[in-house]
Amino acid sequence: MHYSGLSLLRRAVCGSEDWASILTEPGMARSYDIVVVGGGGHGLATAYYLASKHHVTNVAVFEAGWIGGGNTARNTTIVRSDYLLNASFGLKNHALQLWADLSQELNFNLMYAPRGYIDLAHSDGELEHFTLRANAMRLGGADASILGLPDLQNRVPQLSVGADARYPVCGALVQEAGGVVRHDAVAWGFARKAIEAGVHVFQNCPVTGFDIREGRLRGVQTPRGNITCDQAVISVAGASVDVAKLASIDLPVMPINVQAFVTEPVKPTLDAVVNYNAGLCYISQTTKGEFVLGGATDGYVSTARRGSFARIEDVLARATQMFPFLSRLRLMRHWSGTADIAMDGNAIVGDTPIKGLKINTGWGYAGFKATPAVGHEMAALLATGRMPDLIAPFALDRFEAGALIDDAGIGPYPWLH
Ligand SMILES: Cc1cc2nc3c(=O)[nH]c(=O)nc-3n(C[C@H](O)[C@H](O)[C@H](O)COP(=O)(O)OP(=O)(O)OC[C@H]3O[C@@H](n4cnc5c(N)ncnc54)[C@H](O)[C@@H]3O)c2cc1C
Repeated sequence: MHYSGLSLLRRAVCGSEDWASILTEPGMARSYDIVVVGGGGHGLATAYYLASKHHVTNVAVFEAGWIGGGNTARNTTIVRSDYLLNASFGLKNHALQLWADLSQELNFNLMYAPRGYIDLAHSDGELEHFTLRANAMRLGGADASILGLPDLQNRVPQLSVGADARYPVCGALVQEAGGVVRHDAVAWGFARKAIEAGVHVFQNCPVTGFDIREGRLRGVQTPRGNITCDQAVISVAGASVDVAKLASIDLPVMPINVQAFVTEPVKPTLDAVVNYNAGLCYISQTTKGEFVLGGATDGYVSTARRGSFARIEDVLARATQMFPFLSRLRLMRHWSGTADIAMDGNAIVGDTPIKGLKINTGWGYAGFKATPAVGHEMAALLATGRMPDLIAPFALDRFEAGALIDDAGIGPYPWLH
């Protein structure tokens, strides 16, 4: 089915009973070439690119709940590639390039809005570091610029930048191609196209075990029976530690709670994503007029998906320091997700010690922006057996080799990344 203005008009006039469900569920085969564990954006993107780029369609995606019910639809929808280290920048910048055309490619409106991502600096030292980062980004082919205070005030007039602010702002790094993408549409768009290409997607069907013999993956277990497969990829975000344990793999990852908030809607006023770095608070306005806010992790291991009051207060204090008018708005909704954070705060993507079993985890609260790129590269690895350059640095064994990718320079404290 093609989505177009004309098809909408026709259904508005003639009735819409013939809209087919976009998520048809086929009969389950007993054997697949590749099993994707986890029907979030990453898993579905992997399945889609396997089918569309590599013509590998004997693929099943098993999702414990409903597709896009995990972190994919719990995040604050921010996409950007303003990273200093080559590995982080490379993969996320590849994603930013893919986001630009993905709505067309998937025939599904992902509402990519490149409004600009504005990272506030609170000291001259921080601004100097941002300048270094901006130069590295430009050398890598991305757009980046530094705004001094007058330009920043022109760009975001509502921002409180007075010298009497608790953490005065002295400038910003801006990436114009950064912005937001409608997160649940990403899961639906990838799922729909993958299913059209022949991929089988099963919801409410968790993988409960792995059949491993002589160090090689032979299949997976589900409540609906055992499935044989040549390869599988674990792509389950906050559930990674538990699911990897089913294959006797100990991941250097902690599941940590992260919260997000939405205010009541008001007239459009903020045409950028703004990030406050003294503490952490990131904010954007939706097309409906609500402000979406996020902050740092709750700071402790938890899979409860319930937020602590301390972090709520912390995020709102920072939000109102940035934009004092927000103090007059009510919060409408608030939710949490379980972020899978590794010891260097970065992703783990690639091989495991078990032949045929791949892993994709450790994205914490920064993995949405990478969704198309990681799906694209993981599909290439599964289809060709060759490790793509863009994901090679994210190997699980980098923790033994000491080849860490610690963008924030924080060290082995996942809750602080
Ligand atoms: C509050 C919050 C804000 C965030 N904000 C941003 C942001 O602004 N920008 C950004 O880039 N990133 C952000 N992130 C991070 C981002 O959401 C994740 O990194 C990304 O969505 C991970 O995608 P995924 O497909 O791996 O995970 P998910 O969407 O969580 O998919 C994994 C799926 O695996 C399923 N699963 C679990 N166990 C099993 C099993 N045994 N068998 C089968 N399926 C299973 C789950 O049900 C889930 O649907 C945020 C995260 C949170 C929590």
